[in-house]
Amino acid sequence: MVQVAGPERSEGQEREPERLSGGGQDISESKRLEELAAYAAIVQFSDGAIVSLTPECVITTWNPGAEKLFGFPAVEAVGQQVDILLNPPARRGSSVLERVARGDRIEQHQTEVIRKDGNPLSISLNASPIRNEQGTIVGISSIAYDVTEVRRGQDALRAAHDELARSVAELERRNIEVTLLNEMGDLLQSCSNLDEVSKVIRKYTRRLFPGQSGAVSVIAPSRNLLEMVAAWGEIPGDGPFGPQDCWALRRGRVHRVDDEEEELICPHVGTAPPGGYICVPMMAQGEALGLLHLRAGGAERWGDGTAGDSRQRLAVPVAEHLSLALANFSLRESLRNQSIRDPLTELFNRRYMDEPLQRELARAARYHSSVAVLAIDVDNFKAFNDAYGHPVGDALLTSLGALLQNRIRSEDIACRSGGEEFNVILPDCQLDDARRRAEELRAAMKGLEVGVRGRSYGGITISIGVAVYPENGVDSATLLHEADAALYRAKAEGRDRVSTSAAVS
Ligand code: GH3
Ligand code: MG
Ligand code: MG
Repeated sequence: MVQVAGPERSEGQEREPERLSGGGQDISESKRLEELAAYAAIVQFSDGAIVSLTPECVITTWNPGAEKLFGFPAVEAVGQQVDILLNPPARRGSSVLERVARGDRIEQHQTEVIRKDGNPLSISLNASPIRNEQGTIVGISSIAYDVTEVRRGQDALRAAHDELARSVAELERRNIEVTLLNEMGDLLQSCSNLDEVSKVIRKYTRRLFPGQSGAVSVIAPSRNLLEMVAAWGEIPGDGPFGPQDCWALRRGRVHRVDDEEEELICPHVGTAPPGGYICVPMMAQGEALGLLHLRAGGAERWGDGTAGDSRQRLAVPVAEHLSLALANFSLRESLRNQSIRDPLTELFNRRYMDEPLQRELARAARYHSSVAVLAIDVDNFKAFNDAYGHPVGDALLTSLGALLQNRIRSEDIACRSGGEEFNVILPDCQLDDARRRAEELRAAMKGLEVGVRGRSYGGITISIGVAVYPENGVDSATLLHEADAALYRAKAEGRDRVSTSAAVS
């Protein structure tokens, strides 16, 4: 007889009737029939799909449970390869049964099959080899249950878990971003020049947008050019460009290009980078201060999934931080300028002069060079004011300031020390040179004319006193005093002249 090596039929169950029958052949036979009928009923009414197969996986029996589960009536299924449940009829599912045909047992093997109506079905399969009395495998018995719902539940659980893991990663990333943004904001507040600003921006943007390229450009005070102050990744060194060369600056809002083939490419970008880019204007009180430009890095595309969205989500607050910092920075710059510049002539004021003078003296001491100090005073300016009025006097002082600024070298420093008095610091300048240059200034002043309300005023002269480090003094106070003393002498000797310090230190 055929023996099923499955849990359904254990050896104990088989021996039981024999023990009860006391060896009586008839009773045992009838018991066996009863037993077979009971098994048949179990197979008939089982919820599970009970199927037996030949070792070659040809279906031999197919219970009503199988009809219900797989949708094939027994007449269609019996005699067919089990592949009818596979779509495409690959060897995938049957390879498990082939293992059973070689003697393995499988339990709770989860797999996917296709019902007759084409719908997929997740089943849990138990299968055992059927052996004859010699132990040869003559078939396979299997029982399958529908676990589609369970599977769906598991999939949903896994999806929920994955989603949760993604959210946690996203939260962690955001946390890092917020920390970086705050750090960057703090540092930007403490920057005292544009060079420091650009260093801070480079450091933090690289970390905020890893693997991407980008640049920050700032609008020059002239308002018509943007200059790059920081770039990271693979950004070609752009020259300055006008606000009209960027769609974001023109419209005052984010301009994002996901597909370089189709969209409007900003002229400042030139050829569109593969993978697109985003331009975020840096605005403060409705005014554009600069531009944050970001490009996708490597194989990443802005249009891919949500990567572009999440970068845009980050780019906007970064640009906001930058614009706030830049707005503060230019405010501080202008306050600083106000405190060190004289508004009438735009030269440095007396208060500021000490700092560069000390610095130049220290440098001269280190390099054994010289520094000249000029003291300049307008001759008879009171009479000029009295004759033509204060506004004309002011215009003359403004022109004198411009004249000084235009005629000195870039390393020289001109200040208005008060009223109609000026000082000029000439680093690395010896006495003869200083005197010659003072003479040039005096001569230039003689030709100066100012136009006020259609009239021209001129004929003004200046007197200049010259003192030189180290010959006439080694500290700033002495040098300034000596230059004043020389000026006083120039006045006393008749004005419109240059006089040098008589002091020997
Ligand atoms: P000196 O040749 O001896 O220097 O004669 P001065 O008239 O220039 O000298 P004084 O010190 O008597 O007069 C300086 C004048 O400079 C007095 C003031 O009217 C004028 N002044 C000082 N500051 C300003 C200013 O900001 N604007 C104008 N318009 N005049 C000024
Ligand atoms: Mg004076
Ligand atoms: Mg004067």
